[in-house]
Amino acid sequence: MAVQGAYALEKAIGHDTEHIQQDVSSYTGANEHVSSGETMKALVWQGKQKVEVVDVPKPKIIEDRDVILKVTGTTVCGSDLHLLHGDVVQMKKGDILGHEFCGVVESVGKGVKGVKVGGRYVASFQIACGECFFCKQKLSSQCEMTNSNTMTKAMYGGRTAGIFGYSHLTGGFAGGQAEYVRVPLGDVNLLAIPDDVPDEKGIPLSPFPLFPFSIFFAVHLN
Ligand SMILES: [Zn+2]
Ligand SMILES: [Zn+2]
Repeated sequence: MAVQGAYALEKAIGHDTEHIQQDVSSYTGANEHVSSGETMKALVWQGKQKVEVVDVPKPKIIEDRDVILKVTGTTVCGSDLHLLHGDVVQMKKGDILGHEFCGVVESVGKGVKGVKVGGRYVASFQIACGECFFCKQKLSSQCEMTNSNTMTKAMYGGRTAGIFGYSHLTGGFAGGQAEYVRVPLGDVNLLAIPDDVPDEKGIPLSPFPLFPFSIFFAVHLN
């Protein structure tokens, strides 16, 4: 199966260590140490053509710049169908899906600046470092620091940023079709939603790369 073959290949090529030390696609099994010990509901990938809402461990802060977001709005995107159909390699049973979401901040790591507990935020679907060559040019979907998967580079000659809920090829990060989600580098990847903008108008900001562009849209929604 292509999904497993891709795993074996990546294992052979190696797995880089980048900006985010712990990419976590679920909070179960070997990753249990990254769970808060409580449980939550999440939509997980169970294999080709099969997803399920199940009880899974709830995430906790594991790195200083993590934010734990209580999800109040998320999407089922057309791109999720590629995962459902098994067209994207390196999906793993139990991976939490969802790459567009917004919510209320439950807790922040001690290195997070400018994100308030209790505030409403929309997450960027790609995880950017905000500091690398590409991020500085506002090309954050090409961030070189947040996706430690070496397969992408071997296949395409370059990398994409890490992406929430979108296979281990894009870093293996648990997504937002869940009650809670861990947002790594939360100070870079969350945008405050004004009080008078409802979730359904805030979430469409998720696919827009990094903040200057997103803020432009936020202003217009306002
Ligand atoms: Zn999408
Ligand atoms: Zn970057």
